[in-house]
Amino acid sequence: MTKQLVSFVKELYQTNEFIPLHAPTFSGNEQQYVSETISSTFVSSVGKFVDDFEAHIENYTGTAKAVATVNGTAALHTALYMVGVKNNDIVITQALTFVATCNALHHMGAEPAFVDVSPVSLGLCPKALSAFLEQHAVLTESGPVHKTTKQRFQAVVPMHTFGHPVELDELISVCNEWQIALVEDAAESLGSFYKGKHTGTLGDFGAISFNGNKIITTGGGGMVLCKTLAPGQHTKHITTTAKVPHPYEFFHDEAGFNYRMPNLNAALGCAQMESLAAFIDNKRHLANLYIDFFNGSDFKFVTEPNYAKSNYWLNAIICPNQSEREKLLKQTNADGVMTRPVWQLMHRLPMFEKAMRGDLSHSEFIEAHLVNIPSSPVNSLGKL
Ligand SMILES: *Cc1c(COP(=O)(O)O)cnc(C)c1O
Repeated sequence: MTKQLVSFVKELYQTNEFIPLHAPTFSGNEQQYVSETISSTFVSSVGKFVDDFEAHIENYTGTAKAVATVNGTAALHTALYMVGVKNNDIVITQALTFVATCNALHHMGAEPAFVDVSPVSLGLCPKALSAFLEQHAVLTESGPVHKTTKQRFQAVVPMHTFGHPVELDELISVCNEWQIALVEDAAESLGSFYKGKHTGTLGDFGAISFNGNKIITTGGGGMVLCKTLAPGQHTKHITTTAKVPHPYEFFHDEAGFNYRMPNLNAALGCAQMESLAAFIDNKRHLANLYIDFFNGSDFKFVTEPNYAKSNYWLNAIICPNQSEREKLLKQTNADGVMTRPVWQLMHRLPMFEKAMRGDLSHSEFIEAHLVNIPSSPVNSLGKL
């Protein structure tokens, strides 16, 4: 399998050089827009590209308000702040995620609680969430609290793993029943839709990342998606130092963040948005080629759930066993084709090893069997 995969990927990308997991593509107006910011001297925290980029994301996702930030972790921090996460609260999330999800809540003094993922979406499982709350939470007048520690359960943060949307209707109904806020970690899922609605727009807030490895990039950057307008305007306010507009006075009406995305980065974002549809088409095409390639083998290609349209940001396979997984990782990387195991589960990291958690059998299975394979858009598969 490994040898065939290596030649298949090399032929696809038509190169003998190292093939990364996900490289950015700049084939549109990137140079021009970035140059414009330099000519205008507006490279920093204000400028027309920031407003344009937010408007692009609002139009594309259908969210009430989009707020650009310095990175996706900052967007997550802001979203958690907006739903009232405070010191000593519990935030429920998945153990199978990138560490940023947990870092954001950790630095707010909150603690994560880890719940299993669904084998269908690879994201937070509604049944496991419900079971966890039944076991550990009690609903009081001021919301759900932990039965013994009395800590507040303040937010649930599902993550759309590799761009595949989680089961949102079911998660929303559990969150409503328990009166817990829902924040979607949509860092990986720009361009992914749940039953026709863009991921990150169904929860109270969503967070997107534009890091260099994501489907589009601003170098570094993020976006908070706000479901309703007034909290959206407040989100903009607190991420921009909470300054009250005035021709010359400095007055800040609360302790804000400086999480502003520079205009220089937003310029890149505006150009990348013009290519997003082409990237998504191209990546669906690539995913279909992988589906054919792995069809009939004992390596299972991960496909989008049937209720969703995924952006196929990062392609993944489930290996038949751990020794096959090790063999594949070793040989592909030695042969210049980058592959990577999924993240180690969050409770294995020293800072989260004491976190409370439910049964994590699906997460553990995926951790032991999943490998990500090259996923950059492919030049020969259509316009980029
Ligand atoms: C990329 C990513 C983030 C963080 O984004 P940054 O822009 O790198 O801060 C958060 N969560 C997940 C799941 C991610 O993949």
